[in-house]
Amino acid sequence: MKLTAPLACTVLLALALGPAVAGDETARPNLVVIFCDDLGYGDLSCYGHPTIHTPRLDQMAAEGMRFTQFYSAAPVCTPSRAGLLTGRLPLRSGLCGRRRVLFPDSTGGLPDDEVTLAELLSSAGYATACIGKWHLGHLPQYLPTRHGFDYYFGIPYSNDMHGRPAQNNRPAWQPLPLMRNEEIVETAPDQGRLTERYTDEAIGFIRRSIDADRSRPFFVYLPHTMPHVPLHASSDDSGRSLRGLYGDVVEAIDRGTGRILDTLRELNVAENTLVFFSSDNGPWLSQKLNGGSAGCLRDGKGSTWEGGMREPGIAWWPGHVPEGQVSHAMASTLDLLPTFCQLAGATPPTDRPLDGYDLSAVLLKGDRVGPREIMYFYRGAELFAVRRGPWKLHLRTQSGYGQPRPETHDPPLLFHLDRDPGESFDVAKNQPQVVAELQELIRQHQAELRPGKNQLD
Ligand code: MG
Repeated sequence: MKLTAPLACTVLLALALGPAVAGDETARPNLVVIFCDDLGYGDLSCYGHPTIHTPRLDQMAAEGMRFTQFYSAAPVCTPSRAGLLTGRLPLRSGLCGRRRVLFPDSTGGLPDDEVTLAELLSSAGYATACIGKWHLGHLPQYLPTRHGFDYYFGIPYSNDMHGRPAQNNRPAWQPLPLMRNEEIVETAPDQGRLTERYTDEAIGFIRRSIDADRSRPFFVYLPHTMPHVPLHASSDDSGRSLRGLYGDVVEAIDRGTGRILDTLRELNVAENTLVFFSSDNGPWLSQKLNGGSAGCLRDGKGSTWEGGMREPGIAWWPGHVPEGQVSHAMASTLDLLPTFCQLAGATPPTDRPLDGYDLSAVLLKGDRVGPREIMYFYRGAELFAVRRGPWKLHLRTQSGYGQPRPETHDPPLLFHLDRDPGESFDVAKNQPQVVAELQELIRQHQAELRPGKNQLD
């Protein structure tokens, strides 16, 4: 939404008062989010994959901070992106429902009255771009340009959402559109080149921003289309990876990330740019060889087991995020909005509940614990599990794909994720007090939470 005068004033006032200090290069960093689609926790070399080769992301992690307990906001595309951009549980904006994600025949999207990270940063003076897969509504009123982004280039939903005939009173899906701002500029683009083209677009936006006004910071949100199925690699990338086509696609993202970091260094802005790399949800395991890996974590995309929502998370900001750090602090894409606002001198909205926490002490000072103690795990609009500290309580479980109905657990299942990250050994019987406390936490959470109008069904 357009920020109201009081909120915009608050942003400007915060900008004027702090944390900015004149001449302090940390005050207003450029911000870049590189966000994969369906990349699993175990799909990068620096997260233990034996045959996918990701030297640039490994280098990024070695020069910055690698999180081991970083969560997306949801186990599927649409709600996960809503959570990142609003800092709120996706249920609050109505982007959870029976259909689970938006489709080309959907009429909903991210509501106008949500305040996005892009809107907050734009009001704080940032140049903003979204380059890649949007998936928060393809109708004009929902596009990135209506949610705080000055520039958009990409496909408005998933790369498999095309070419389906009309069915069940829903219209046919048209060939995949590629958009620039609010115009369709191509249909059925060569998907093997999307990663490279998005990277080129991101680099172009960064160069233009620097050329126009080096003192004006930028925010680039780069949600890649890959490695969501159908996988496509360019002729240059095909056949390079020992892991096969899936590896080719991930390694192309690795090279693209390296090109962006190289550009920041070339332009002499690396030490004033925070880059964060993650993914929207876990691996699409039912795609077999074309899906990724959650490493030692259980299940994948679509599930509230750890493999569905725990993701790689890498922060890079030379000279500011200490080198070579591995953080075991619990953190989430929900935390990027308050963190970025803090770094940018913008104030998050105060007229609504937020579900994110400011991670700047973790990133800049190596705070080992971090501000996040609790994580909620929703499947669709239903709360399936909660985590507090190392303990995760499951009320219901369901595999991402292939298990038609959820299994209800009464009593609930309890896992200690530090000792048992694969969620193999239920210890609820031995920990009745922990179970009772987490059940009370859920009761309080559900009493407070007001779902937004459903945008998906
Ligand atoms: Mg996804």
